[in-house]
Amino acid sequence: MTAPSYDDIETHDDLVAWSREYCKEVRRERLVDVRFDLVEWEVSTRAKRRAAALKRPKIPAAAVGAPIDWETAEAAGGRVADGRPFPATISLTWDAFEAFDRAAWESTLRHELVHLEQYQRCGTTGHGRAFKERARELDTEVHCETFSEAKYVLRCAVCDALVARRYRDCKLVRRAEEYRSSCCDAALTVD
Ligand SMILES: [Zn+2]
Ligand SMILES: [Zn+2]
Repeated sequence: MTAPSYDDIETHDDLVAWSREYCKEVRRERLVDVRFDLVEWEVSTRAKRRAAALKRPKIPAAAVGAPIDWETAEAAGGRVADGRPFPATISLTWDAFEAFDRAAWESTLRHELVHLEQYQRCGTTGHGRAFKERARELDTEVHCETFSEAKYVLRCAVCDALVARRYRDCKLVRRAEEYRSSCCDAALTVD
């Protein structure tokens, strides 16, 4: 599917499509050595703190800084690679996407690209010195970005539909009774 524009992201598929396109752009512009044909994407609605994560198989002998031989590499499950990196999954946290502004979300993706590049090259990844250097080059944070859960959840008082999440006290939260839901033209409740 073609990626929607950032402001039009509404579904998990949209978020994956947009994020994948953005990562491809970063690969091109900043020469990140990754292949996306061996990456799966998912959206997590359960992650509580981590904005995103790279899920990958554990490879016992792998070490950051030591390029791995993907002909013979063996995963903890006993599977032997055939010259290509074992697939990894970039897991995107929906609530983080909603909590962040665009710049923070893009930085989160660049952080995961550093993990992906390390993993595909070395079979593992971590936040050590090599990561720091690469993170600086890609203009992203060294520590995985975290987010806090929405403090306020506003729902339609009639049908209970989710109307909005807010991460801080704001006018919508303080004066919820002055707003109406678009689904039922009803009052809003704040949890
Ligand atoms: Zn990280
Ligand atoms: Zn409603």
